[in-house]
Amino acid sequence: MDLVIARPEGLYCPPGDFYIDPWKPVQRAVITHAHGDHARWGMGGYLAAQPSEGILRARLGSDIRLQTMAYGESIDHHGVRLSFHPAGHVLGSAQVRLEYRGEVWVASGDYKVEPDGTCEPFVPVRCHTFISESTFGLPIYRWPAQAEVFRQINDWWRANAAVGRTCVLFCYAFGKAQRILHGLDADIGPILVHGAVEPLNRVYREAGVCLPETCYAGDFARSDPRLRQALVVAPPSAGGSTWMRRFGDYADAFASGWMMLRGTRRRRGVDRGFVLSDHADWPGLLWAIEQTGAERVMVTHGSVSTLVRYLCERGLDAQAFATEYGEEDDVAETA
Ligand SMILES: [Zn+2]
Ligand SMILES: [Zn+2]
Repeated sequence: MDLVIARPEGLYCPPGDFYIDPWKPVQRAVITHAHGDHARWGMGGYLAAQPSEGILRARLGSDIRLQTMAYGESIDHHGVRLSFHPAGHVLGSAQVRLEYRGEVWVASGDYKVEPDGTCEPFVPVRCHTFISESTFGLPIYRWPAQAEVFRQINDWWRANAAVGRTCVLFCYAFGKAQRILHGLDADIGPILVHGAVEPLNRVYREAGVCLPETCYAGDFARSDPRLRQALVVAPPSAGGSTWMRRFGDYADAFASGWMMLRGTRRRRGVDRGFVLSDHADWPGLLWAIEQTGAERVMVTHGSVSTLVRYLCERGLDAQAFATEYGEEDDVAETA
């Protein structure tokens, strides 16, 4: 019996009668993480891992009906044993483990296998069937070491601060922004953020994640000399807006896994591209799948056919799952 099937409302667990990251309103929604394509409005009730509570309430409203569980804790629902396990993607992100009559499935949502210091690192969970994303499921995607990427970002900032030019670094406001803040060398100059970023920083700090001091960019007048040494973290939607004018002749960059593709950077029209993703790269996907010991793999979003074909050639029973995920950070904002 399949513990998860694709329905028009979302991924559905028939024996448990609940959905995982549904894209249409349903009674019971189990949420892997708080990105917009996985956690949507209008569910009767939400169940999520405890560290994602602050972000879910900040984004969906403080009055949503939300129950949380610590990683590793389990509950029984209609005979289905359910537990959350770290996915290493963003604060609170979880893989959902389902066990029913000896059969184990894991729905991993989005995941990244490299620890980043801003959320619980990915933990492989043994299962019979693994549901995997495939956002960067092509062999060309191999991430450089994070330490090297942060060295590049800090060098770029230092060089611009030396000539008195503001740096504007575009990235997704939830997850990527906090990861970048965590890796910045705060000795170089003041760190400014857009209004879309700071409320999420607050939730991270309350969760005990160490972030450097940040100020609202909007509090600085255009003539303020401190702006010339500053690095500004802003969502891509701020690019080209009047909000940018205060920075004068600034240097800009974009941080995303898609920056591995030269064409993407050119389309973005920014000076620099930094390759930094919150998703697993190709070797990361294959490693994670192998670690689960699963014989069956359901692939949800991204380069689905490539990963399915590759896994089938290696003797696994791999299939595509049609979903509406992928309209989030890296994907939507470089489309
Ligand atoms: Zn995500
Ligand atoms: Zn996603």
